[in-house]
Amino acid sequence: MAEQHYDLIAIGGGSGGLSVVERAASYGAHCALIESGRLGGTCVNAGCVPKKVMWYAAHLAHALDDAPGYGFRLDYFGFDWKKLKNARDSFVEKINEWYLDYLQNAGVELIRGSARFADAHTLEVNGTRYTADHIVIATGGRPQIPSLPGAEFGITSDGFFTLQTCPPRTVLAGSGYIAVELAGMLNALGSEVTLLVRKDQVLRPFDAMLREQLMERLREDGITVLTQTQVRAVARLARGALSLHCEGQASVLHTDALIWAIGREPNTDTLNLAAAGVAVQPNGIIPTDAYQNTNIPGIYAIGDVTERFHLTPVAIAAGRRLADRLSGGQPERRLPYENIPTVIFTHPPIGTVGLTEEEARRQYGDAVKIYQTRFRPMYHAFTTRQPPMVMKLVCAGPEEKIVGGHIIGENADEMLQGFAVAIRMGATKRDFDDTVAIHPTSAEELVTMR
Ligand SMILES: Cc1cc2nc3c(=O)[nH]c(=O)nc-3n(C[C@H](O)[C@H](O)[C@H](O)COP(=O)(O)OP(=O)(O)OC[C@H]3O[C@@H](n4cnc5c(N)ncnc54)[C@H](O)[C@@H]3O)c2cc1C
Repeated sequence: MAEQHYDLIAIGGGSGGLSVVERAASYGAHCALIESGRLGGTCVNAGCVPKKVMWYAAHLAHALDDAPGYGFRLDYFGFDWKKLKNARDSFVEKINEWYLDYLQNAGVELIRGSARFADAHTLEVNGTRYTADHIVIATGGRPQIPSLPGAEFGITSDGFFTLQTCPPRTVLAGSGYIAVELAGMLNALGSEVTLLVRKDQVLRPFDAMLREQLMERLREDGITVLTQTQVRAVARLARGALSLHCEGQASVLHTDALIWAIGREPNTDTLNLAAAGVAVQPNGIIPTDAYQNTNIPGIYAIGDVTERFHLTPVAIAAGRRLADRLSGGQPERRLPYENIPTVIFTHPPIGTVGLTEEEARRQYGDAVKIYQTRFRPMYHAFTTRQPPMVMKLVCAGPEEKIVGGHIIGENADEMLQGFAVAIRMGATKRDFDDTVAIHPTSAEELVTMR
């Protein structure tokens, strides 16, 4: 078998893999990237990018509802899902092509195919062997489908992006961010949505304020949220509709589309990790230390195959810092996983960074002080919809260092990034108070809370 040697090979051309090879190559490393599917990975093809397009469309649908309050008289002729889907697909294809140039310009070799380990320094792709001093596993994850009768009649978030029309009725099973985001978009774009939540609340790892507010918003927007409810079996009816046999707040539901949004599992089962001796948890996650090292020297893991935050910028930052360390002469470079900001693209959106109140109380006990405000944004003074803005700052210690910030409301998505910088730098409540407000905005409330 022919063999080619590189300084660094990344398996997976998603957010993590692309970043690590591009940065390593910029230091002069001889790099290759192996990709079995479309360049860009989950984020570009079936995640952040197409999702944000759909979120913008849903946002516009809400704006159309609001417009009469501002004096607009509108004739509404409906929403052309197919037109948006075609435009979205072309947009994604352009990004796929852009990444081809990105790799070429960086001098990285692209190897098309599915990689498997032959040993700790050797990968096999379509019968060719490739060796490297450093191998980075960045193979991401895929949506889970439960094991129950008829589960195959449901789709996942991947299938959501292939829908040709808006389903008149949709049932979503799940309580995580993907479930609530898809529920909000489908609802705004005209589907009658039912959300089935296995326990009591959505977004369980998030701050209680966000969970409670979002449950209220989902219901006020007309989404039926059934808690303590699970699907037990699915059957196909005549004309394509589905019948769901459930346990909990409903026993039978009829729907046109069923979307499983019950979690994701890592793509590690086909890598033949045993041949390299790489340790893997029973759920397929690859354990790594603070520097992305696996248990085998020279093999690293980044992004969604690891246990930490499953977000694009996290995979990118971990990949770039790993390259800085391996090829850029910066031996201490690593990604600290504290104060990672994130947004949930619901309607209205959620922005969150740092500790929840519960986590802060566990860590700092009584030395926690909470500042919270709830108000109606001026924008909604003229609209029929009246979603409030709710903001919470979690402060710790006598200096009231801000250790958590949580916002739900219009523009929370765009507000959070700047605050995340301040919080990461160790800002105190006094620093916020001393910052002059920008008026009239909703964000100004963050620096005027009492
Ligand atoms: C619906 C949805 C919405 C999301 N929204 C957001 C968001 O708004 N913001 C955000 O930050 N994150 C979001 N995410 C998460 C984000 O997409 C992921 O965290 C990110 O893509 C992880 O990057 P990665 O490099 O680890 O893996 P991926 O991007 O999944 O890339 C892995 C790549 O590896 C390839 N691969 C797998 N096995 C092999 C193999 N054996 N050989 C060769 N190639 C292989 C795959 O084809 C894939 O291209 C979303 C995810 C989903 C599903």
